[in-house]
Amino acid sequence: MKVFKFGGASVKNADAVKNVGKIISLFNDDLTVVISAMDKTTNALEKVVESYMNNDGKVVEHLQEVKDFHHNIMNQLFDNTNHPIYEDIHNTFVEIEWEIEESPERPYDYVYDQIVSIGEVISTKIVSAYLNSIGINNNWFDIRNVIRTDNTHRDARIDWDITEKLAQEQLLKKLNPNSKTIIITQGFIGSSSENFTTTLGREGSDFSAGILAYCLNAENVTIWKDVPGMLNADPKFFNDTKKLNNISYREAIELAYYGASVIHPKTIKPLQNKNIPLYVKSFVNPNEPGTLINENTAEDSLIPSYIFKKNLVLISISVRDYSFIMEDHLSHIFGLFSSFGVRIHLMQNSAISFSVCVDNNPQKLTNLMTALGEKYKVKYNENVELLTIRHYDEETIAKTTIGKEILLIQKSRNSVRMVMK
Ligand code: ASP
Ligand code: MG
Repeated sequence: MKVFKFGGASVKNADAVKNVGKIISLFNDDLTVVISAMDKTTNALEKVVESYMNNDGKVVEHLQEVKDFHHNIMNQLFDNTNHPIYEDIHNTFVEIEWEIEESPERPYDYVYDQIVSIGEVISTKIVSAYLNSIGINNNWFDIRNVIRTDNTHRDARIDWDITEKLAQEQLLKKLNPNSKTIIITQGFIGSSSENFTTTLGREGSDFSAGILAYCLNAENVTIWKDVPGMLNADPKFFNDTKKLNNISYREAIELAYYGASVIHPKTIKPLQNKNIPLYVKSFVNPNEPGTLINENTAEDSLIPSYIFKKNLVLISISVRDYSFIMEDHLSHIFGLFSSFGVRIHLMQNSAISFSVCVDNNPQKLTNLMTALGEKYKVKYNENVELLTIRHYDEETIAKTTIGKEILLIQKSRNSVRMVMK
């Protein structure tokens, strides 16, 4: 069994869905295919939720946009408008209509999961029906019967034991020993023990692929993307990016931690635990090798990787009488960051000050600054950027800092991190 994952961009329109069919037909294996909502559907459904919860009178209009988008794709995939998929999709949208008929009194995150999850349900139904219509026989499967979570809506935690058991029981039994079996299922969604739909956090479909690969002891996982593999930098910021051919799980986790956004950070760990190789490949050039992530560390340091985070705030905290910053201060300061939910990207302390680089979330920061200001002297520098270079040398540092003021620099053996303006 191999696990494939196709994200929103790989099913963003009818041609993209057709391309998924081409890729799947290149393989002669049992496949579990995890698919996200089409294109920006998750954002569009988030708008539906917001309108409904705020009662702003636009909910029907927003829902109609989502319906039209999918109908347009279906019309291009199916010649026959009597194809049962039309009724199936209609009925699936009715589930949202039922949700929004009631007055918006239930908790936001709960409602969010019931509505937003429909994006994945619809996308997999369309892809599955299309593949069957062109002779790629497959089974549509509702992954909420397998991925069991707690009821932390929008950020649900996996119950691994139950999920593994259900995956073995329900998915493996679909395998036909005489022919290859293709299962088409949803990323991003699961269900709680009370049988309510949950979601795993934005961009969570990669993680779903990792979960299923782990539970099914898959031979390998392939994430199909619109890039040739994992690159050593974001092409938005760098023009001569290089592809990483093979990196270790450890390196992939480090890159994800520093903010490289190709793979959802939670995806790697379950694969590493069972030593399941992960490929990141191009859905445009599916025969190209892409990037292989496995236990091999030999190539980790061949190419420096650059990870940029922009629009951050550098906060510098000192004790009012300029005495030393001591452990009791640090413990109090960390407590404040944690209670205001401000995530620290980088920190450094000197004798009399403690500096941290954080996301620019004005609302959270204002509250945090006020609380810090009661006891400390606080200075901050807005609109700074944080550049992390893995496997750097002096030349890479020199090249990337031309014309910039370096406010703070941290070096370890493998990484350099610089806060710049
Ligand atoms: N559709 C979800 C999202 O856009 C999950 C995913 O794409 O991974 O966040
Ligand atoms: Mg996506």
